[in-house]
Amino acid sequence: MGITKREVADYYRAVADRVLADVGGRPLSLLRCPGGVGGQCFFQKHHARALGGAVRAIPLREKDGDEACYVAIDSVEGLLELVQMNTLELHPWGSMADDLERPDRLVFDLDPGPGVDWKAITAAARDVRKRLAAVGLEGFARLSGGKGVHVVVPIRPGPSWDEARGFCEALANTMAQQRPDRYVATASKAKRDGVIFIDWLRNARGQTSVSSWSLRARESAGVAVPVRWEELARAGSGDAYDLRRALRRATALRGEEWPGWGDACDQALPDVPDV
Ligand code: ATP
Ligand code: MN
Ligand code: MN
Repeated sequence: MGITKREVADYYRAVADRVLADVGGRPLSLLRCPGGVGGQCFFQKHHARALGGAVRAIPLREKDGDEACYVAIDSVEGLLELVQMNTLELHPWGSMADDLERPDRLVFDLDPGPGVDWKAITAAARDVRKRLAAVGLEGFARLSGGKGVHVVVPIRPGPSWDEARGFCEALANTMAQQRPDRYVATASKAKRDGVIFIDWLRNARGQTSVSSWSLRARESAGVAVPVRWEELARAGSGDAYDLRRALRRATALRGEEWPGWGDACDQALPDVPDV
């Protein structure tokens, strides 16, 4: 299915408010595809003047201690400038540019190994949801636009990146220990037949997860779409929504795409031993 640059721009203009609600004010990694969907793509996290005047530069300290300028946008203009520079995918941090060291969002990235069917993926997502609920956290489901599902958890800023990552690691480890037939929590075992990798590694400083409503530069051209829990099973796959279907969904949506998200943003991360 061919998608033109014009279609990509029209799509992002139409869903701009929803994309900005997810990525606005956050450091972003961009997947830029100068050859269009299906062509060669590259990740970019550093700011460049050429990206456009409405694209902000966020100075921050990288892992190796060096200072670097990252990318952030706050407006439709900024988003469309990124699209003009052939950005297809947007990948935000789990913290805001003006509060970098305090994450406000966790993501459990469920990565199915070979032979895992959709039913098992959705059962895993509901399992994560249940375990989160047991410690007072509400999680929300997103089709990744690829193979899997993300469970997204807003938290009140406060805990450090190490604390946030520690919580996610502990939850993933507990799942893998209790159900080794279903889950692994170690990246080196991620591709094992019949098991789902509970990828908690998204929750470290400098890591990203794809934005809600981001297009994907994959063969199936799926879109990362937030869904309600009761919709998850019948969605059928992580890439169930292509550009046109996602556009129809976004246009028809009234109110919060994730009912309860706004209220959940104040939930506090519990201590790790509670998981
Ligand atoms: P799928 O459902 O197919 O796994 P995904 O988006 O979850 O799709 P992953 O490979 O699990 O893909 O990666 C999770 C997230 O990690 C991505 O959404 C992206 O933000 C980030 N990521 C993965 N690979 C890279 C990379 N090479 N460079 C930068 N960020 C990456
Ligand atoms: Mn994934
Ligand atoms: Mn992953």
